[in-house]
Amino acid sequence: MRQKFYFLFFFLFPILVLGQANTEKVETYFQRIRNNDAMLQAFFLRMPKGGDVHTHFSGAPFGEFLFENAVKNNLWIDKKTGEIFDKKPNNENAVPIQSIRKEAYFADLKDRAISLITTKNYTNFNAAIPPNTHFFNTFSLMNPMTKGFEPELLKEMKKQALLENVQYLEIMFIKPSYDKNDEKIKKYFSKYDSLLISFSKKRGETDKIFEEMYQYLVKECNFSDFARKHSEKIANWNRKSRLENAADSNLTVRYLNYCPRTTFPTDVFAQMLLGFLSSDMDTLLVGENIVAPENADVALRDCWLHMQMFGFFHKKFPQVKISIHAGELTPELVTPQDLSWHIEDAVRVGKANRIGHGVAIPYESRNYETLKFMRENKIAVEINLSSNEFILGVKNSEHPVMMYLEFGVPVVISTDDAGILRTTHSYQYFLLGKRYNSLTYKDIKQIVYNGIIYSFLKDSDKEKAKKLLDQRFATFEKMIVNEVMK
Ligand SMILES: [Zn+2]
Repeated sequence: MRQKFYFLFFFLFPILVLGQANTEKVETYFQRIRNNDAMLQAFFLRMPKGGDVHTHFSGAPFGEFLFENAVKNNLWIDKKTGEIFDKKPNNENAVPIQSIRKEAYFADLKDRAISLITTKNYTNFNAAIPPNTHFFNTFSLMNPMTKGFEPELLKEMKKQALLENVQYLEIMFIKPSYDKNDEKIKKYFSKYDSLLISFSKKRGETDKIFEEMYQYLVKECNFSDFARKHSEKIANWNRKSRLENAADSNLTVRYLNYCPRTTFPTDVFAQMLLGFLSSDMDTLLVGENIVAPENADVALRDCWLHMQMFGFFHKKFPQVKISIHAGELTPELVTPQDLSWHIEDAVRVGKANRIGHGVAIPYESRNYETLKFMRENKIAVEINLSSNEFILGVKNSEHPVMMYLEFGVPVVISTDDAGILRTTHSYQYFLLGKRYNSLTYKDIKQIVYNGIIYSFLKDSDKEKAKKLLDQRFATFEKMIVNEVMK
């Protein structure tokens, strides 16, 4: 007993008190520099970031890396537009990229190629296309540069995370696939697709038909095998993406499954089923999401149906976590009716543990009730400031981040698509600190912790991650106090 007391008094107690004192000093320093952009950038670059839990694999690598990879693999390039192809296209301007490497115009062409797949030079080259269209176009243009290079690109993501003092990545990686040409699957499509669309006014009846579809896919179409193959593929790429000399030993990576919300209902259901099945059988795959433009026609038409599907699968697989892109909308993109309920449905019907973006919350009919529901049920919102600024044109006080905080909803800060948007996790914190002046350093520190607390790591891993974050903050604050403030 006495030994324990001595331990507490002489060892633990001074650490706690000194740690607290350092936090106070860093708070003072932060308030002093918060209006100086350069000093604030430096501060947030070095600050531990905890976890980035909303990051798309296909949008994360920088254009420069993708282009170099295309050169290395001698892919094809359109000499005029900079578009890259994985094999010879039916296009007279296309040449193997290495054949023009020494040409004088190559550097300009590289710049153009990068601007096609990112926001670089957007105002010079691509401003004729609306920002949200340009953004979503980049994915198919990037496809030839990402497909087949998964481990290399994962390595790049890890290097970037380490550079920025990020300790945990939860990556929306690759969607599961199944054989769409199988006769039994074709029968499934033709039987259920029109049935699901005609359901639009009979919301209560979906579970019965979902159960039928679920049984058919699992029993007749070997969906457990597809799910197993998917999880093996992820595990294999995860293994191959280890960095040399165990450089990533302090970085934890988990993966989220997802399905696109722009395809036909039976396909969304089938992909979602594979996402839930494989998340249920794997420790690297931790949950399910839904992606693609929320304002697309089919996405708007079927949003209610997709939320019913999430609710159904939540009952089947209660331990699989759910994050839903919801409310990535503005009054300019959709009608007031379409703007008025997506977040509410995602948390109440879709049973989301987290929502992505949530920008439309001010415009939802039951905005205050939904915010209260999110607070009471500890449903976090993933805030992506640069993404919302470019794609939606929403920033500063038009952005609802302070509204969520005001209502006590857990907020996490994430990157969405750092490579396309040419941004970093540090820069997202910079924007938060610069734009929202009432936030203190301690508030921001809590938001960093939220990236671990509301991650989909299992509890024991979460505890370890929190301890690691404690250590990193102690080191960071000591450095600021002893080496920066002097
Ligand atoms: Zn996203």
